[in-house]
Amino acid sequence: MIPDRLGRPLRNLRLSVTDRCNLRCEYCMPEDDYVWLPREDVLHFEETSALVDVFLSLGVDKIRLTGGEPLLRRDVPALVKMIASKPGLADLALTTNGVLLEDQIDALKAAGLGRITVSLDTLRRDRFKALTRFDQLDAVHRGIAAAGRVYGSLKIDSVIIRGVNDGELIDLIDYGRSVNGEVRFIEYMDVGGANRWSPGRVFSKADMLAVVSGAFGPVEPMTPPGSSAPAERYALKDGTTFGIIASTTEPFCRTCDRSRLTADGVWYLCLYAARGLDLRGPLRAGASSTDLARLIADRWTGRDDRGAEERVALGDRRAFVPIQDLLKRDPHLEMHTRGG
Ligand code: SF4
Repeated sequence: MIPDRLGRPLRNLRLSVTDRCNLRCEYCMPEDDYVWLPREDVLHFEETSALVDVFLSLGVDKIRLTGGEPLLRRDVPALVKMIASKPGLADLALTTNGVLLEDQIDALKAAGLGRITVSLDTLRRDRFKALTRFDQLDAVHRGIAAAGRVYGSLKIDSVIIRGVNDGELIDLIDYGRSVNGEVRFIEYMDVGGANRWSPGRVFSKADMLAVVSGAFGPVEPMTPPGSSAPAERYALKDGTTFGIIASTTEPFCRTCDRSRLTADGVWYLCLYAARGLDLRGPLRAGASSTDLARLIADRWTGRDDRGAEERVALGDRRAFVPIQDLLKRDPHLEMHTRGG
């Protein structure tokens, strides 16, 4: 186990396989068009697999495939197959918006993908279209139904924005129950493309618990102390479980063992990090696994990032990256490039 400067182990890797997406959610990719990563910079699956080997050798045992929308990358099941059977890997998951999931679910399962999380913020067709700019709610429902059928259960992530979908918590829990999905409510964050973020639009964990317990009665906390999982889990009286990810009002940086590798091989130690470490360059220049492991270990042992906690300490809080710095500039500043 390699500890960083706060004693946090290198364990959890989010692997972005593309910066492209087929939706335009207002808290992530609100613009029509972006500067995309140059195609020639995007890692080939063999390169990704080689970097995964290095990370596994250093103690990473959980990997989540993300995007953009990961299922837009051609033949993701082939990458899953390359990674799933690697020694030392305990958990291989994928986060998707669900639009393309129905067609790929069987191949993903056959390739060895362990778990699925689908992002879904609203059950209302008009609101889905307004939030994402695409009329794809039915496709997402089909994807969720397929995941429930093939995997037996799934997670459903819902970003809750005050004044937008904060009236849907109860409906989302009921929906999750009906599809064997555990819903996790996520506080609206001020990272990357969230340039319409403001403190007044955050619907907090306290707000969420008040709404849920008002409708269903007291909720029972289930998360063991010291857990590094971002979601705090709760159970309703009937046994239905749900989670809350209070990344804005109660950040969990102190136990954060997550890092992110972009599709073009830049490694970020924090969602809020200004810069990452380029691993593609050394890899393509012929660096050995030992060289790469040393680069990664050196960077991790110097890590003291606590981005979300530092944001809380700010008095006057605004979107992390001003709109003029995002538009048509470095794609690495965008949350969709960093894998959310
Ligand atoms: S802000 Fe950075 S350190 Fe804190 S939980 Fe998120 S990724 Fe981890």
